[in-house]
Amino acid sequence: MSGGVIYQRVALIGLGLIASSMAHAMRAGGLAGEIVGHARSAETRAIALKLFCDRVTETAAEAVQGADLVVLCVPVGAMEAIAAEIAPHLKSGAVVTDVGSVKQAVVDAVGPCIPEGVHFIPGHPLAGTEYSGPQSGFATLFQNRWWLLTPLPDTDAAALARLRRLLEAMGANVDEMDVVRHDLVLAVVSHTPHLIAYTMVGVADHMRRVSAQEVIKYSASGFRDFTRIAASDPTMWRDVFLTNKDAVLDILGRFAEELFTLQRAIRMGDGDHLHAYFTRTREIRRGIIEAGQDTAVPDFGRAGGPSKGG
Ligand code: NAP
Repeated sequence: MSGGVIYQRVALIGLGLIASSMAHAMRAGGLAGEIVGHARSAETRAIALKLFCDRVTETAAEAVQGADLVVLCVPVGAMEAIAAEIAPHLKSGAVVTDVGSVKQAVVDAVGPCIPEGVHFIPGHPLAGTEYSGPQSGFATLFQNRWWLLTPLPDTDAAALARLRRLLEAMGANVDEMDVVRHDLVLAVVSHTPHLIAYTMVGVADHMRRVSAQEVIKYSASGFRDFTRIAASDPTMWRDVFLTNKDAVLDILGRFAEELFTLQRAIRMGDGDHLHAYFTRTREIRRGIIEAGQDTAVPDFGRAGGPSKGG
């Protein structure tokens, strides 16, 4: 992480896991002259001031004044109100980006608020943990993780190149993607798997009432992994499902069809079908390891550490 100051003043709106990790990474690399932050609660602002912000402000409007880069790090459902509030206070030539897990909804909500002369470049880091809040961030969260940018047709090339430079200096691998494609891909690789994890833990919770503490006591790695994912922030994930509705419903429909096929194979004792299916899925896991997105080290669920992204 190095490269000198890329933006003189950076404003972070929302000071949770993603914003705090960005601030730590920017500080570690000396990438920002000043980091100004805003979150809605005084408690979060006080923690941020102590841990990673040079200055915090009571309103988002104050935070963005004079900022060269503004990063919206609030839940997707909160972006529109924030964008409307900050719009009149944005500096001409500033870049506004966001880190929301859904892109079409953010483009629709934020885009119309952005004034002439300000560059809006939506983005999404594929990095995260199940922890949230201003204490949860760390400088290496984005190291070797994808950061997808979904530039709009009229995005300024120089503004885009500068933002890319910042994200790469924070350790991320930057790629560009079409907005609709982004939402569909994320529905497959992140959103629907989260919904399945939430459901499975819900089922086990129901069972637990029937079978006392056994589900917790003997929880093996499959279930333990689900509980880690299902511990993710409720507000963030509510907003993801409400705003990426069509893509998630599409993938869920396909999921249900596959599940019924497997259910039928089990009922009919069709071992060949199950074996062939699991052989194909194992290949996908190998592909992920070969692509450097995970390691082949056995995971007994006790190592901890960063793992996923919304
Ligand atoms: P987080 O840790 O829960 O933090 C959210 C922050 O937003 C908090 O500082 C909160 O302030 C603030 N906030 C919420 N509503 C607000 C409002 N109306 N006005 C001002 N501040 C507000 O969240 P996060 O995990 O960093 O996620 C932030 C964004 O990143 C989300 O859009 C999410 O989709 C995206 N994202 C998350 C992950 C992940 O795995 N966590 C990965 C990639 C992208 P208070 O503390 O004062 O309530």
